[in-house]
Amino acid sequence: MRQRHKPWADDFLAEHQQLIIPNPAELKGKWQSLFGNANPIHIEIGTGKGQFLVGMGKQYPDVNFIGIELAKSVIVTAGQKILDSELSNIRLLHINAIDIRDIFADHEIAMIYLNFSDPWPKNRHEKRRLTYARFLDQYQHILEPSGHITLKTDNQGLFEYSLVSFSQFGLKLEEANVDLHALQDPTNVMTEYEEKFSSKGQRIYRCRARFPKE
Ligand code: SAM
Repeated sequence: MRQRHKPWADDFLAEHQQLIIPNPAELKGKWQSLFGNANPIHIEIGTGKGQFLVGMGKQYPDVNFIGIELAKSVIVTAGQKILDSELSNIRLLHINAIDIRDIFADHEIAMIYLNFSDPWPKNRHEKRRLTYARFLDQYQHILEPSGHITLKTDNQGLFEYSLVSFSQFGLKLEEANVDLHALQDPTNVMTEYEEKFSSKGQRIYRCRARFPKE
């Protein structure tokens, strides 16, 4: 994601702490109370500029959404978009998801979205991929027993890697689609990257998997 220096970003983060939650580990196990309801919580890791979250927040008002994004200059754009939407079922976390178990309690999350995650194509960077085993181990803990991971990407290498990683970890594949837009799924909410790549004629891959019930 292209990052521009935004001198107003620190002020924005300080002024919108109800939206971009500081010290999120303090809310571990209590996220529903932050939303003031018992609706399921879905998270997107690597939210970017927030188009997917706003689209999903509108489409599913009975779901609470949390977007996680490590780049400050990007998350403030997402924050502004969410404020403009006036939706109350979305929050953001300005953190690296590497230790996501510190943020969410076991079984606190119903769905994880990984949209156009950085592919890290070099073998020596495998551990940074969001579908590497160390991440899957953490997702297994924070997800409800029936919870899912949904991944979309334009990157065939990351898609194939993720399918293998899911399978080696014992996840059950519920969908694997190598040309999502050919489906014309009316419920699909496009991300910024999805719009950009599909407008250039690139294929979009999607898969959905769940951990076996304990
Ligand atoms: N999901 C958006 C989309 O589809 O338009 C953005 C995709 S962009 C390629 C990937 C984003 O993930 C970047 O904004 C990057 O900063 C963020 N990211 C990568 N690794 C992350 C991590 N470990 N924790 C939080 N965010 C991460």
